[in-house]
Formats: sequence, C-alpha cells, structure tokens
Amino acid sequence: MNKPVSVIEPATAPVARSATASELVRGAIQQKFIMQCCTQCAAVQYPPREACYQCLSVDLEWSEVENKAQLLASTLLHSSNEPYFAQRLPWHTGLASSPTGAAFVCHLLPGCTVGNQVELSLRFDSAGRAVVVAQPEGEAKDADDSQHPNAEDFLWGVQGRVVIFDDVDSDRTEAATQLALASGAVAVIGPDQATGGADEVMIRLG
Ligand SMILES: [Zn+2]
Repeated sequence: MNKPVSVIEPATAPVARSATASELVRGAIQQKFIMQCCTQCAAVQYPPREACYQCLSVDLEWSEVENKAQLLASTLLHSSNEPYFAQRLPWHTGLASSPTGAAFVCHLLPGCTVGNQVELSLRFDSAGRAVVVAQPEGEAKDADDSQHPNAEDFLWGVQGRVVIFDDVDSDRTEAATQLALASGAVAVIGPDQATGGADEVMIRLG
C-alpha cells in the first residue's frame, strides 16, 4: 500500500490586503515612499484608509512623503501561526514615528535601534505585497542573513526584473505595467508565461 503523499507548498507571507492598501505597490515599484495625504488638513495616513483619520475628509491623494522616522519600539516575534513567519523566527518588527505625524508598523532590518533614526521604504514581501521596511539611517544596505528579516527577505524596486502581475486584464494592470517598465523592469508577462526564473518577480495588484 502506497503511503499518502503530502505536498508542502512553499510558504509566503500572508496575502490579505485591502484594495486601498494595494496602492502601496506603486511606491514599491518606483522605490518611492508614497502615502495617502489629506488634501484638506495634510495629515499623512497610515495604514491607508477611506477617510482622513484627523478630519474625516475622503479627499485623499497619494504622494511621496518624508521617509525618515524615529524608531519608538521594537518587538521580537517568537511565535506565529503563519507558516512563512514560523519558518523564520524570531522576526523583528517595530513602530516608527514620522515627523509628518504618522506612525508606521514596519519590518526591521538588522541594526535598527530603538530611539535612533531609521529610513522607511516600501518593498515587496515574498507574497508580492508592498510592505513598510525600516533600515538604520545612512548605513550600508548589506544583507545580514543570520537574522530575520534581512534585506534578502524583500525586493526593492523592479530594475532588471521580469515582472508578473497576478491580475492580467484590467486598467490597473495596464497602468502598473507602464510604471514597471518606466522603473526599469525588463519585461512584464502574464502568470501563464512565468518560467520560474530567478529574475522573475510576482507582484499582487489585487
Ligand atoms: Zn484631513
């Protein structure tokens, strides 16, 4: 009698994300730190939302904002129900306060110290989602793979990459394709054209 075969899929970071938050992908493609800003009171919003947290205006626009911040607190995760994180524990996260008034829950690259300045960026996680990542201000961006997360756990920008968008047929995909090509992607292909090459990156728009 044959033993049952169990197939273990490679784990990725959790994929759930609101439609509004998925706009962060544009910043990760361009390597720009874009956030929603209120056109009425100028408050920077994070996480992305439908109405301003300060004045409730629904007139929010995406624009590049200050990416320097102070690390207020850090947390070392020792347990996770998500298989991706469970395989990479302990995992460093933190809370960074921006001069804009916004506070960002972020992944911490090696060397981030509470009380010190950090630089925030939007990068792609293993699921192709844009997430906020902090690195020590002004330090070399070398990878220290002895702890997680490290620079290898994220992709920053699309230069030299073959980009695969999960959604192949929408106005949004067309706009994202133009943005990716203008930002250095060598090609944009559909999921059915993927070959699994090392230069390919899957980005989730939906
Ligand atoms: Zn406002």
